[in-house]
Amino acid sequence: MNQEEYVSPEDCPLCGENNHCGNLSSGKNNKCWCANNDITFPESLLSKVSNVAKNKSCICKACALKHKQDINKST
Ligand SMILES: [Zn+2]
Repeated sequence: MNQEEYVSPEDCPLCGENNHCGNLSSGKNNKCWCANNDITFPESLLSKVSNVAKNKSCICKACALKHKQDINKST
């Protein structure tokens, strides 16, 4: 039997912290922080997410920014 692992859409798949995804909250100004032009989700970052969590939970801002810094360091 294929039992699918439960993935919380509010938890970052990389660090487990709340990702504060604006698309999940029902506030008036629910524009997610990921709409910020400073935030990017390159393939090298997305590839770190396990297949289980892919397209189910968002990466948090801290992890997105950290990955960006890591890229800048290595170039
Ligand atoms: Zn994170």
